[in-house]
Amino acid sequence: CGIIGIVGKEAVSDRLVDGLKRMEYRGYDSAGVCTVENSQLIRRRAEGKLFNLVNVLKSDDAPGHTGIAHTRWATHGAPTTSNAHPHATGEVALVHNGIIENFKPLRDELIKRGRQFESETDTEVVAHLVSEQVEDGKSPEEAVQAVLPQLRGAFALAIAFRSHPGLLIGARLGSPLVVGYGDGETYLGSDALALAPLTQQISYLEEGDWVVVTEDGATIYDNQNKAVEREVTTSGVSA
Ligand code: GLU
Repeated sequence: CGIIGIVGKEAVSDRLVDGLKRMEYRGYDSAGVCTVENSQLIRRRAEGKLFNLVNVLKSDDAPGHTGIAHTRWATHGAPTTSNAHPHATGEVALVHNGIIENFKPLRDELIKRGRQFESETDTEVVAHLVSEQVEDGKSPEEAVQAVLPQLRGAFALAIAFRSHPGLLIGARLGSPLVVGYGDGETYLGSDALALAPLTQQISYLEEGDWVVVTEDGATIYDNQNKAVEREVTTSGVSA
């Protein structure tokens, strides 16, 4: 129900959890974070309140300067740790708000191609589809471009790549997603409120937009994969 992503110049896990706390009011049943460090996707997840995730991170931190985090309001699959986001496979980890309506046929195809699923969510198909492309030698941008047109339903996505620290890709269709601009850092979030302690400089993605985020800023593309400018506004939401 809430998404936050940071491409940062210092550790991100505490700041990701802070962002999730700011979205608690939306309701959720589980939560998780994933950072990228030393070509590894480091994932920590917990059922129930954020307190549980904080405890997991206390004993087992998620180091790294790039990461994504999520509070889940389950639509497909029980509110368990294994269904909590981020979902990860092979080359990618991702978080998703919304519903992938055509996940069943996509999942059947993926299973036929030998992919193994570890959750009951609609979301996990997206992780497999993007990872397949990257495993095939595609760049993160090419992979996301190939996968987005296959998805039906509503989504906000934030995707991290094992072999590309310092990069996140976001996408929005039917669920809100904003880009936040910091000083040598760039953010993704469900809303300006989640990013308020990090930055007030926000661009709202439009329907069908996707965005490549690095420490230097963001490049936004529309649903025709054409680079577009989206206005940067000052959120005025105080931390
Ligand atoms: N449909 C996804 C799931 O059930 C995402 C739910 C959400 O928006 O939090 O895992």
